Amino acid sequence: MTCFYAHKMGFKTVVLSDIADAPATFVTNQTIIADYSDKDALKKFAQMIDIATFEFENIPLEAVSFLAQHVEVCPNAEVLKITQHRVLEKDFLNSIGAKTADYATSNFEENLKKFGKAILKTATMGYDGKGQFVLKAGDSLPELGSSPWILEKFCPFDSEISVMVVRSKTGEIKAYEPLTNIHKNGILDESHYPAKVSDSLKIKAQNLAKNIAEKIGLIGVLAVEMFVIGDELLVNELAPRPHNSGHFSMDAAVTSQFEQLIRAITGLPLGSTEFHSTGYMKNLIGDEVNNLEEFYKNPNAKIHLYGKAEAKAGRKMGHVNILE
Ligand code: AMP
Repeated sequence: MTCFYAHKMGFKTVVLSDIADAPATFVTNQTIIADYSDKDALKKFAQMIDIATFEFENIPLEAVSFLAQHVEVCPNAEVLKITQHRVLEKDFLNSIGAKTADYATSNFEENLKKFGKAILKTATMGYDGKGQFVLKAGDSLPELGSSPWILEKFCPFDSEISVMVVRSKTGEIKAYEPLTNIHKNGILDESHYPAKVSDSLKIKAQNLAKNIAEKIGLIGVLAVEMFVIGDELLVNELAPRPHNSGHFSMDAAVTSQFEQLIRAITGLPLGSTEFHSTGYMKNLIGDEVNNLEEFYKNPNAKIHLYGKAEAKAGRKMGHVNILE
């Protein structure tokens, strides 16, 4: 999607991927297929481009740090380092006064007793609810192995929202209005605009997202996922890249999150973040991608398919933006 929008804006793209048939390889001028640890491939990639960005935060930090020695990378490696580790991320958020769920990084049994109900998550490489266990006081812990874990107090939230914030090289910053997110089995299923929260909470959420983007030194786009509890906001997760809950902007906002990313990293003025349509984004997960008839019959449904080879259970195969 980032490549599409880059091309529309007159840029050329090179994709570096460790998967030969990754969707981005179908829509780019050039492709390098290599392991992310392949330094020769990273150097070659750097020589072919003026600026690099990423659309997935589980790339090894070493690869991005190495690349950054040869070409400009936005967002920078420090942003990636914080956001790919749940503990660093929560420590950072609390250090700037953004509230999160209570959490612990050790003494899990004792802390589970204190929290009553909690979620044990892998500190790195987890996404879409993978590597997560909901536990009650007294439950036995799963086999932890050597990777780092975080225990988060379970938050009985009223709803979940997210804000996409974009910050340019020039320092210009804009936040989209929040969307309400609905998850199924730990995977985002739908994002609704407008978010079902008060206007004052919407503004609070946008200001919070902007503050985080500024303090972390973002250049690019950042998704800030939050739990709504009354009129309080707890930050759950940050993603320094175009995000699934930002996909509605492709058809319902003046400027899509992907165009904003290209504008931000090339130092162009940012586009308007206004939504001109209400409605929702529905993810096509697994074999839902084989039942598109209902959407094709709806003249206000915009279908986006990613061209992934196999519709495995839980895999995001595409999404539909339904304008109301
Ligand atoms: P995450 O991978 O951290 O985004 O978690 C996936 C989903 O699990 C979230 O969107 C929430 O629906 C739920 N979840 C995660 N952490 C908590 C928590 N501390 N309390 C309640 N629900 C949570």
